Amino acid sequence: MTTSLAIVSAAAALATAFLVAPQDPQPGYRDTPRLPDGWRVHDAERPRPPVVEPGPAGAPVPPPKDAIVLFDGTSLAGWTGRDDKAQWRIADGAMQVNGTGDIQTRDEFGDCQLHVEWCAPSPAKGDSQGRGNSGVFLFGRYEVQVLDSYDNPTYADGQAASLYGQKPPLVNACRKPGEWQTYDIAFRAPRFGADGNVVTPARVTVVHNGLVVQLDEAMIGASTHRAVGKYAPHGDKGPIRLQDHGDPVRFRNLWIRPLDTTRPAPAGK
Ligand code: MG
Repeated sequence: MTTSLAIVSAAAALATAFLVAPQDPQPGYRDTPRLPDGWRVHDAERPRPPVVEPGPAGAPVPPPKDAIVLFDGTSLAGWTGRDDKAQWRIADGAMQVNGTGDIQTRDEFGDCQLHVEWCAPSPAKGDSQGRGNSGVFLFGRYEVQVLDSYDNPTYADGQAASLYGQKPPLVNACRKPGEWQTYDIAFRAPRFGADGNVVTPARVTVVHNGLVVQLDEAMIGASTHRAVGKYAPHGDKGPIRLQDHGDPVRFRNLWIRPLDTTRPAPAGK
């Protein structure tokens, strides 16, 4: 091979390497700390949950009479964000992530049932954690992951409806990008002792498009990246936060039912 031909060949190989870099079939990490269940945080080897096709997308689920509507499709007045103002775009009855940062409710909630509808961008763009990434944070810190997990391999504890960095969903019930999806989340807040230590962890149940994907799972702590989440004491109420991860994910029809889980004792007790 002549020198000039060798240079051309090397340049072509380099260009090919950059242009068609193969997608990692097992995205994830192999150097992160271990969770209490033995898997690494974002473990590349952790099995992906089986795909189960949910039923077709339907109309928005009407809020029950005792629900507090967090977003009715027209106003972000109940939300705050950068510069004390939620600035996501509102169009066609939905709000859309637009690069102005996370937003969160002005009101705070404790134990609750939360209904969320979301839609990943179509056509899909990016892959793994870079495709349709957002999140629903209870108390502003415990994340139920929002991700376009339709035909989009990523680490199991980071896919749609995972408790991010902690628990993969039982199944992958994701609809196609561009189709509306539902989360129904039952959340029991953690309880802290006078010393600030956690007495009972947060517990989360998630129903994704009608399928139970998290069943009364205990959270290890606040959601975090590449580390094992830890608890830090907080009050008995906190905001609902939605994540701006740079992808134009849409949300609609958000409502919440505060839950009073105390039970009256029998008379005389
Ligand atoms: Mg997220």
